Amino acid sequence: MKIAIAGSGALGSSFGYMLKKGGHEVTLIDFWEEHIRTVQDEGLTVDFNGKTENIEIPMDKPENIDERFDAVFIFTKSMDLRGMLEAIEHIISKDTKVICLLNGLGHADTLSEYVPTENIIMGTTVWTAGLDAPGKAHLMGEGPVEIQEVDPEGKEATLEMVKVMKDSGLNAVYSSDVHFTTWRKACVNGTMNALSALLDANIEELFKSEQTKVISEEIIAEFALAAKLDGVELDEEEITNYVVDISKKLGAHYPSMHQDIANRRPTEIDFLNGIVTEMCESNGYSAPNCRL
Ligand code: NAD
Repeated sequence: MKIAIAGSGALGSSFGYMLKKGGHEVTLIDFWEEHIRTVQDEGLTVDFNGKTENIEIPMDKPENIDERFDAVFIFTKSMDLRGMLEAIEHIISKDTKVICLLNGLGHADTLSEYVPTENIIMGTTVWTAGLDAPGKAHLMGEGPVEIQEVDPEGKEATLEMVKVMKDSGLNAVYSSDVHFTTWRKACVNGTMNALSALLDANIEELFKSEQTKVISEEIIAEFALAAKLDGVELDEEEITNYVVDISKKLGAHYPSMHQDIANRRPTEIDFLNGIVTEMCESNGYSAPNCRL
């Protein structure tokens, strides 16, 4: 399959590596010049669960790509999604499937402004990736990736993408309710990422304090209220236990929002706690923790 990765930072270059190793024709797309030059000159180096490998893989800026693809995986940060969709309009044909695994809420609506809904596949992933230097990424964990079509007409294509990712070692599964999964994942990011960034603590340090669980429960209650307005029922106790369980697996990890603050980059907070605040407040409820 001819695949483009639109946004080839941490997760994008790692997924590109896995899909290329899986036998697909993969092109990485990004706008970070040093990263592109390194991959063009020296190849892409990926440490996959402790095993490092260097591969040759095409990479360029959106404006230098002059072909259409069967599938495009979007891997920008939430706030760059629209900019990326505008930059890659010329590589998307009427049949191109667009897969979006970004964290955050509201992305399907943005995608539907640029891509026919039957070609949009939404999902979440708990793979963990990082960029150690230009041209050097690491991918950790075992996934999974959960995906589902937005429009029932896209089901067959979604099942094909599940197979493509599964065969490439990405542990993909078909989700029967990706809307729920997206909200559930947003609760994880809206609690531990936001608190880690605000309190300058890694996950292990955060969850040593009993107060973290109390504040997380309050944040999750606000997410559950907004989810309900969006037609999704979240079991607050189950989600809290899920967050605490994930925190134990992550240990002394600093989530991306903490890294963004440390590097003075914008964070994805507007697409997590920000959207929840707006949804609650515009419906006459308050969401003081998310507003903070
Ligand atoms: P990242 O910042 O490492 O990568 C994003 C890349 O997109 C950057 O290299 C940037 O240069 C590029 N980009 C942005 N706008 C562009 C444009 N208009 N044209 C060309 N390139 C552009 O981010 P990441 O960590 O890979 O995360 C991507 C998404 O996946 C986020 O929503 C994140 O929350 C989610 N996610 C990340 C992880 C992880 O472990 N890294 C895990 C699960 C989900």
